Amino acid sequence: MRCIKELSLPELKEWLKENQEPAYRAEQIFHWLYSACVKGFDGMTNLSAPLREKLAGHFEISPLRLSNKLVSFIDNTEKYLLELPDQHTIESVVMPYPRRCTICISTQVGCRFHCVFCASGKKGLIRNLTQDEIVEQVILGKQEGHQITHIVFMGMGEPLDNLDNVIKAIGVFNSPDAFNIGARRMTISTCGIPSGIKKLMDLHLQIELSVSLHAASDELRSRLMPINKQYPLKTLMKELKEYILRTNRQVTFEYIMIDKLNSSDADALMLARLIKGMNCKVNLIPFNTTSVARDFKPPMASEIKRFQKTLTAEGVKNTLRDSRGADIQGACGQLSLSSR
Ligand code: SAH
Repeated sequence: MRCIKELSLPELKEWLKENQEPAYRAEQIFHWLYSACVKGFDGMTNLSAPLREKLAGHFEISPLRLSNKLVSFIDNTEKYLLELPDQHTIESVVMPYPRRCTICISTQVGCRFHCVFCASGKKGLIRNLTQDEIVEQVILGKQEGHQITHIVFMGMGEPLDNLDNVIKAIGVFNSPDAFNIGARRMTISTCGIPSGIKKLMDLHLQIELSVSLHAASDELRSRLMPINKQYPLKTLMKELKEYILRTNRQVTFEYIMIDKLNSSDADALMLARLIKGMNCKVNLIPFNTTSVARDFKPPMASEIKRFQKTLTAEGVKNTLRDSRGADIQGACGQLSLSSR
């Protein structure tokens, strides 16, 4: 059976028309699906009983099943293991803060890019998520009681490798008929695919763009992220400079700090040189241990501080990411296919 959330508002109107129902029902149904986030057609109380039955006879209401939920004792971060119709699983993570609540969602089952430090790419790409599978992760977060204010496309997968569905999902998140979350509250994180960055630029979305950099030399970046062999730093930086110029928006560089690999003073200076003059900031992420790259570890706190100090002295804006959900393997790079 088709999931009703595959339908756009005009498509739903069309379906209603074909079924001799007034078109305005579409907005009501959308409200129930994306605002009230009901779990069944029964909950759509302002629709007639026959219409509710007709809908239930034609459509599924959710493309995902919440098969496990873990709650961090450290910081209340929640991680959901979600089962897709073809039994594959994905994960999403909800991070409640005092005045906002961020959900980190997946865009693919697995990932094709094989960054050596990341658990998500270990088994390669299995498939893209559909628009409704991407959207449903936020609905589930809401059904679990969270007022989601921010969405980050930083879960499993590479958003720019499934850009069409990601863009459709952003449309739903944006829509006043659905979530009404402003694009500025959404962040796409990419391992650095120039054609995807260009496409984003041409769309004039107001989203935040983060780029996983992790190294300031081609030699090291290619070792850590095979994508760098295809799109070396020169190519990536050229595209990003163009993006910044054309969108007038700041880009965030994510930089995992790995002990004895990319975290020395010389590395900080090389990073500063690479991005100097760009409208950007650096988000430092102390390496999170994963089932892959077992010999990597984060540097000592004092070394991270020194790295930050060097960046600041060089005029590079930087922040240190507080890793969340470490006790439930919910932190960056820890989402994997192996948690079933
Ligand atoms: N494919 C996209 C989206 C994933 S975002 C991207 O590469 O940006 C996940 C973020 O967590 C990325 O910045 C990724 O590089 C980072 N990450 C992956 N493994 C990690 C680890 N073990 N420790 C800390 N961060 C990690």
